[in-house]
Amino acid sequence: MVVQIDYHCNDEIIEWKWSSDSKLMTTPFFTSCYLVDGLLIDSGAPGGVNDLREFVNSLNPDNMIEKCFITHAHEDHAGGANLLSREFGIPIYAGEKAIELLKLGNSYPDYRQMAWGPKLLPVDATTTEELIFTKSKKYKFEFFPMNGHAPELIALIEREQQWAFVADAVQPKYKMIFGGHSDIQEDISLIYHSLGELYEFTEGMDNLLIFSAGNGVFHGRKTLLERRNEIKVLHLKIHEMLRELPTNILTEKLIVRKLLREIHGKESFIGQMTRGALSRKNLIRSLLKWAVKN
Ligand SMILES: [Zn+2]
Repeated sequence: MVVQIDYHCNDEIIEWKWSSDSKLMTTPFFTSCYLVDGLLIDSGAPGGVNDLREFVNSLNPDNMIEKCFITHAHEDHAGGANLLSREFGIPIYAGEKAIELLKLGNSYPDYRQMAWGPKLLPVDATTTEELIFTKSKKYKFEFFPMNGHAPELIALIEREQQWAFVADAVQPKYKMIFGGHSDIQEDISLIYHSLGELYEFTEGMDNLLIFSAGNGVFHGRKTLLERRNEIKVLHLKIHEMLRELPTNILTEKLIVRKLLREIHGKESFIGQMTRGALSRKNLIRSLLKWAVKN
């Protein structure tokens, strides 16, 4: 297994990153959790629980985890919650929608098991008021729902410090999305709107640090607009190209295939490996479904 620990903001934030070392993966594929003054944000993947246990045991008493907040119920974020609750008695918090999903646990296809380990074990989580304080009350996080990657996803915002913990709600670039036959149904129009809403919510926080899960830290609130504009350009381009196609004689499948060829050339390696679940085709389908406003 690959474990990395990064420190941010004068060591106030510890990022614990975990990836499987499966030989089938050409490069590590990380997920992160962040420890901020006793508050652990997310809990890694089911395959990382032994490493997570080691991490918790390595913490000195000042830094001990007091509570854990799960941003959304995907296995690479909620995978350690059962262990934290059962072995360490750490209370787990989440938004209302995530609580329902966390209660059920999840099993998922083999390609996701390869990256994140076996099934997601269920865990009981509770919700809290719309604010969560860290152990010494030094930091106060507001909840900010960000639909699009997952309907239950809640980002945590620390207004005074200008920190946003967004999990998978902000990506370095939108080149492919989940959808199709997968239980993860991303929606690019909702992602676009969430980015805009977070931009508005963080007004005045020009030095915003956006902490992602496994993709590093994005600097500046302007990142949100940049990501949003990339999506907008792609959306308009797809619909412009669609207008040039003889849609009356082409099936949806052929339209998607033609657009894919023109935009990306071919499907990504991940798209093939996940049998289309996380693919460029799904991004194109989602962009097509989203009507262009005149
Ligand atoms: Zn996710």
